[in-house]
Amino acid sequence: MTIAIIAHDGKKPEMVQFLNEFRDTLQSKKVNLIATGTTGAKTEAAGYEVEKLLSGPLGGDAQIAARIAEGKVDMVIFFRDPMDKHPHEPDIFMLMRLCDVHNVALATNPATAGLLMKGLE
Ligand code: PGA
Repeated sequence: MTIAIIAHDGKKPEMVQFLNEFRDTLQSKKVNLIATGTTGAKTEAAGYEVEKLLSGPLGGDAQIAARIAEGKVDMVIFFRDPMDKHPHEPDIFMLMRLCDVHNVALATNPATAGLLMKGLE
């Protein structure tokens, strides 16, 4: 199973904390992680294997959206920062839209993502 992870700058520490909380599940289910560039770098630094795509503002969200459209992503964990503006807002909306088009599970905060991970367990 492939999970795409994306966290806006203000939410990156929360993403690492979240992954650590579910480290055992990620390992036992042999989850394949893909991420936007900077989120991926932080994830790697925390000890996870992850495929890093471009940074979000440079097209990383669009790359993940394309993989969703191709049926290559099973779940998206996207910790958005609702208190910040983003130059790549159209890419963010595209990604979320494609999750709905292709019925891919999308969590935009740790509470929902936690429930999805418990579903995996
Ligand atoms: P980043 O991109 O992981 O490269 O910071 C995330 C985003 O802003 O969508």
